Amino acid sequence: MPPKVVRRTLDLAGIQVPLIEITGSADGPQLTVLAGVHGCEYASIAGVRSWARALESRELQGRVRAVPVLNMSAFRARTPFVVPEDGKNLNRCFPGHPSGTLAERLAHAAFTQLIAGADAVVDVHAGDMVEALEPFTLYEAGPAEDRALALATAYGLGYVLRQEPGPGRAVSGTTSAAAAQIGVPAITAEAGGCGLVEQAAVDLHVRGLDQVLAELGMAGRPASAEDGAGRDQAAPDLLGRFLWLRCADEGWWEPAVKVGDNQRAGRRGAAVHDQLAGGRGGRPAARTWRQVAPPGPAMSRKRCWRAVNGARPRGTRSPAGERRRPPLGQ
Ligand SMILES: [Zn+2]
Repeated sequence: MPPKVVRRTLDLAGIQVPLIEITGSADGPQLTVLAGVHGCEYASIAGVRSWARALESRELQGRVRAVPVLNMSAFRARTPFVVPEDGKNLNRCFPGHPSGTLAERLAHAAFTQLIAGADAVVDVHAGDMVEALEPFTLYEAGPAEDRALALATAYGLGYVLRQEPGPGRAVSGTTSAAAAQIGVPAITAEAGGCGLVEQAAVDLHVRGLDQVLAELGMAGRPASAEDGAGRDQAAPDLLGRFLWLRCADEGWWEPAVKVGDNQRAGRRGAAVHDQLAGGRGGRPAARTWRQVAPPGPAMSRKRCWRAVNGARPRGTRSPAGERRRPPLGQ
């Protein structure tokens, strides 16, 4: 019997957010699937839309709650990385605060209504508007990490990254970190980017979500997982560190490597020129990225693209001289 499907909006912090509820004919786990936490990550939004549509005609056990776009104001305004009303990265605000700024209130509402109480959470991302990346899945240390690792592996991307709380953690306040803190197995899955709807990335997300369903025992594998979309799934590389490199100088970024390239220690990864207008006359402000080490390079590669399409934003140095981090994705 096909599942029952309800499409409606959910009021989260005063914002009407699209919600697709798909309830199977038999009992089973409750899975929450989020996309559009960053409003311009179109491959992930398209992936969740396509996957939910296909799920409507399949046998399902349990219940799926899918939000194709959580950060609606960023989606409408085509604003990468942040909630435009307060300039905060929504995926640094979880579990949120009920009386904070809009991003904090939206995070709190999404956390209490969609993440808490779920048996599993998948937060589907891509690189944002100016962001290319190597597909990977992220999960957090915590009481549910064994189940989170199983979901991350099932998603089928090339790299699986584990983060744990502490001073070395590159990103915090994410959906998957907040879920981990309350014992909900959760993953963040990344494929696609640069404001594009690349079919290959959409397919990776659709296949990944299907395989999460199978891992949770909520559905069998669809026929598509047996053909071309399901080929070449080697075991992922497991990474234990999320390394973000940040440039100390403003300028025009010229990468010397592409996303997915292997990088040797000591080899230049990029140069930052101090003249935005002049192409060749610029002085290399950062000549060598010796920190870009071969083991676990996926995130280093990711950093390499982050400034590919533009200069480092102005005004990133605070009056106290301490550098303020520009809001980035994930
Ligand atoms: Zn994102």
